[in-house]
Amino acid sequence: MKVVVVGCTHAGTAAVEQILQDHPETEITVYERDDNISFLSCGIALYLGRKVKHLEDMFYASPKDLEALGAKVKMKHDVLKIDSKKKTIMCEDMKTHEIINDTYDKLIMTTGSYVAVPPIMGISDTRILMCKSYAQAREIYETAKEFKHITIVGGGYIGVELAESYANTDHEVSLIQSRNQVLNNYIDQDMSEKVVDLLKENKVNVFLNERVTGFDRDDDDNVVIETNKDDHKSDLVIVCTGFVANTELLRGQVEMDRHGAIIINEYTQTSDPDIYAAGDACTVNFNPTGKPAYMPLATNAIRQGALAGINIFGDIKKYMGTQATSAMELFGYTIASTGLTLEHALSSGMNADAVEYHDYYRPAYMPTTDMLTIKLVYNKDNRLILGAQLFSKHEVAQSANTISVCIQNKNTIDDLAFMDMLFQPNYDNPFNYLNLVAQQAVAKERQERK
Ligand SMILES: Cc1cc2nc3c(=O)[nH]c(=O)nc-3n(C[C@H](O)[C@H](O)[C@H](O)COP(=O)(O)OP(=O)(O)OC[C@H]3O[C@@H](n4cnc5c(N)ncnc54)[C@H](O)[C@@H]3O)c2cc1C
Repeated sequence: MKVVVVGCTHAGTAAVEQILQDHPETEITVYERDDNISFLSCGIALYLGRKVKHLEDMFYASPKDLEALGAKVKMKHDVLKIDSKKKTIMCEDMKTHEIINDTYDKLIMTTGSYVAVPPIMGISDTRILMCKSYAQAREIYETAKEFKHITIVGGGYIGVELAESYANTDHEVSLIQSRNQVLNNYIDQDMSEKVVDLLKENKVNVFLNERVTGFDRDDDDNVVIETNKDDHKSDLVIVCTGFVANTELLRGQVEMDRHGAIIINEYTQTSDPDIYAAGDACTVNFNPTGKPAYMPLATNAIRQGALAGINIFGDIKKYMGTQATSAMELFGYTIASTGLTLEHALSSGMNADAVEYHDYYRPAYMPTTDMLTIKLVYNKDNRLILGAQLFSKHEVAQSANTISVCIQNKNTIDDLAFMDMLFQPNYDNPFNYLNLVAQQAVAKERQERK
């Protein structure tokens, strides 16, 4: 079988490795327009914050690795056209400008996403940067060395992580967010207040409810960020306003959602049976709602990529969907989340409610302990767990994973209230905090039904 893989970061790399592990005889050609593969964007904040020394450590595979497995890897090759009827692709060798045509039996579309650049006046200023690729990361790092005041536009997880990195490296940092909270895809407003307080305690200037309307330069060569409320001056601006699926090549040829993300079935197959797609280019099945959604995360990309590599040989392994489970470390705290926030559950039309648990993670008689806050979101009609948000100095990221599995397995608050969990005073109380937050939800429901 002749397989063409277009784009090779996480989804593409996972697909190629999976195919060649299971079917080493497969003829695979990878076309990648960048000069590297497998770059972990999550390492950008770590590198800027000097937690990791070398940005190059953020690659976990190289073109040579894939070639050693048996793939033909065409770096700096930009795919310009795909003809799904003829099963052909056309691409440009970006070094020689030669046009190359190729054919496929199966195509794996892993072209990912690009930064959603808002159509704002002045955005093409050289001191306004985007943050995703290795080249962009290098540019941000080099440019930030020269400048003191950095402004981040967008309070999603990337914006918040970058704000921390710069605050830790002696920059003056401002964060401008159009909504009334940060991290709105992951946490509710009450949890966001804790995050905003933490940012402010660490000298990040946070501006909520401010929509950027334009960029300019003043007489002193500062970048002026104009918002619906004010003008802010800065030396450098980093725009972190989300991602858009990069799927132009297949427009009109496979089904897409209204934002242009490719719709795939549970075998990662598109509406064209010979084209599979994975990662940021396509939708995911979001288990808490049971509906397709766009959630550009590396977690989804590697799973879908590997599954595409399995399923091009037949409908072999289904994609289990996602809870978009995520975590970040911020000034020594862990903020972790999984599934739906209460606000998103209610706006999806669910009869949802939430409880908040606030206590020490292990007994006060231990030499040290830390407070943790857990918000558990559930469906009042069928008592299914819908989501959770966790905030603590203690490591609670793995607890978000546990609740993710509960959502995946359709557990109720009653299940979690008594689910088997270890007890040992080094780690928790006789009932683990996840049991306890669920017991709180059960008690709330009992009270309301009286
Ligand atoms: C700063 C930052 C931090 C992040 N942190 C996390 C995190 O902690 N956890 C997490 O799960 N996710 C995180 N993400 C999201 C994660 O990086 C993405 O979900 C992931 O990169 C998606 O992988 P992908 O392979 O689908 O697509 P992409 O990474 O977008 O890669 C697509 C590839 O396709 C190539 N390509 C595109 N078009 C063409 C073409 N026409 N011809 C040839 N090649 C082409 C591109 O050059 C690129 O290499 C983060 C993202 C950013 C920006």
